[in-house]
Amino acid sequence: MRFTMLATYLAIIVTTLVLMCVYIISLLSESLYSAETINMFAKANIISATVSDIWGSDTSATAADKFAGVIENSLAGTNIRGVVTNTSYTVLYDTNAESQLSGKVFMRDVLKRALDGEQAKTITTVENDMRLISVAVPIEIGGSIIGGVYLAESINTIDDTIQSTRTSLIVFSALIIILIGMLSLAMSYIITSPLEKFREVAREISKGDFTKRLAVKGHNEMAQMAETLNYMCDELELLEEKRRNFVSDASHELKTPMAGIKLICDSLVSAENLEPAMVKEFLTDMSDEVDRLTRIVERLLVLTRMDAGDTSLKAEETDIRMLINQVVKKLTPIATSKDIVIYTDYHDKEFDPILLDYDKMYEAIYNIADNAIKYSPEGGFVHIDVTSDSNYLTIKFEDNGPGIPESERDRIFERFYRLDDSRARDTGGTGLGLSITKEAVSMHGGTITVTNASEVGSIFTIRLPYKVRKGGRA
Ligand code: ADP
Repeated sequence: MRFTMLATYLAIIVTTLVLMCVYIISLLSESLYSAETINMFAKANIISATVSDIWGSDTSATAADKFAGVIENSLAGTNIRGVVTNTSYTVLYDTNAESQLSGKVFMRDVLKRALDGEQAKTITTVENDMRLISVAVPIEIGGSIIGGVYLAESINTIDDTIQSTRTSLIVFSALIIILIGMLSLAMSYIITSPLEKFREVAREISKGDFTKRLAVKGHNEMAQMAETLNYMCDELELLEEKRRNFVSDASHELKTPMAGIKLICDSLVSAENLEPAMVKEFLTDMSDEVDRLTRIVERLLVLTRMDAGDTSLKAEETDIRMLINQVVKKLTPIATSKDIVIYTDYHDKEFDPILLDYDKMYEAIYNIADNAIKYSPEGGFVHIDVTSDSNYLTIKFEDNGPGIPESERDRIFERFYRLDDSRARDTGGTGLGLSITKEAVSMHGGTITVTNASEVGSIFTIRLPYKVRKGGRA
């Protein structure tokens, strides 16, 4: 990623600089060449006008001597070579005396075009790679062409200027590229190094280490991403801790009835001449322990299914009165054995059918009612009170058991949590019932709370919304 960024930056910069250099050089060449051409045309036209004047009044063969001075004056202080010819290309005057062209024919394309009446110019390369800029203009008298002025100058100085500008631009561009390259490298490092750290932490997470965190600096997008990752790690760590506790609690819970069974088995094996009644008693105890084991395993399975994301509700329109009556019917023998009365109050004659997953809600209500019976003293009562408004159905379970201290009211919904371990075990409790209930109620978009009754006992309240989407949470 770092190198992709660097290469992209550099490609953009190099392209921009190359285009800029090409543009500057072509602009510079254009303006230098055209300034020189304008200058040469101006001089050629002055010479042409002067020669025309002199020729107009004196057409003798020696007239050339008269305009020689004018030409020399016009071109004084420059490196321009000037040649004046008649229409037969015969040289009348040449500022380059060394070439001894006077009286000889001087044929040049640019001169030919001038004698055709054009203001002509051209750039040519002659020997030793010397580049010449040549202009030629006609000499006219009374509208007819009588000769031509040809001026030529080496443009190597201009080319040198352009070349040195080009070299400076290249050096300058190279420096900019190096500078920007270094800056981009630093920048890409600044941008990608947090990503590197992200990768490291993500790798650790995938290996199961959720303790790693990223340092959050500032409020930019990177910081937000770091915060999100840290939050994810917090959640995973919490989940992992819960999972570990769950496994160790579950093992512990399973160990107790198994130790009981083992003890009974050992006693049976070691005892001699046991009375059949005694054997029966041992076996009954063993059966109780097996029941307990089964109960724990069943509830663990329910919770595991819920944890595995099996949270879909098979919601169907349910008559709550019928559901509660079925729970009561099932629990009545247990209540009767403790001389406990269960009575129900339905405040409405008929309740609107509510969308519920029958099995899940049956289990939830059963657990609460079962607890109420379990933790109430002999001869006590369990009161189930059902009310509704347009949005919610409310079911209250009141008992005259020991109640629940305020500090414990949240914790009793945690897995394996019991207020009084030995008492709960005696009553066959697994410590899982309320967590299953809470999970089931919240799957229906409802809530469960607990308060203490005015004198003794506790009140569990389930509130269920009428609007529950079929097949999922509200
Ligand atoms: P258990 O199977 O042990 O009953 P639960 O999850 O159903 O597990 O309940 C958790 C704990 O909450 C119980 O061990 C008990 O201490 C307390 N509890 C639940 N219901 C009542 C109640 N009606 N009265 C008093 N304590 C209760």
